[in-house]
Amino acid sequence: MDFKNCKECGKVFQSNTFARICQKCQKSDEERYAKVKEYIYDNRGADINEVSDKTGVSVDKVLRYLREGRLEIIGGGSLILDCERCSRSISTGRFCESCAKEIDRELKKGFNEPDKAKQRMYTADMVKKNKN
Ligand SMILES: [Zn+2]
Ligand SMILES: [Zn+2]
Repeated sequence: MDFKNCKECGKVFQSNTFARICQKCQKSDEERYAKVKEYIYDNRGADINEVSDKTGVSVDKVLRYLREGRLEIIGGGSLILDCERCSRSISTGRFCESCAKEIDRELKKGFNEPDKAKQRMYTADMVKKNKN
């Protein structure tokens, strides 16, 4: 057991090795996730701004669920995400299948994650583009 600052609310909490957020935040995160998931299943092809609007979950968080591969946009929504490597449209995660395989190979040779700030800017740009 270890004490960490929750990445969501900043409170100190007792964590096992993997947890980045406290139990309270984790619970509300799961609730948000369930809401988003339900909405997407009921409204196939809904665009990310609409999903965010109707569920009250920020675009940022919805994108995070997608990036983590927890959510998959079905139907017309596939344009929301691009493979970060080759820009092909994907429905979940950060990379298309063939890039994921490539990266897996590179990782084994010591590949560095793109830095988070860059990734955020990239994501914000993408959202802007989708609004037009
Ligand atoms: Zn918290
Ligand atoms: Zn790719």
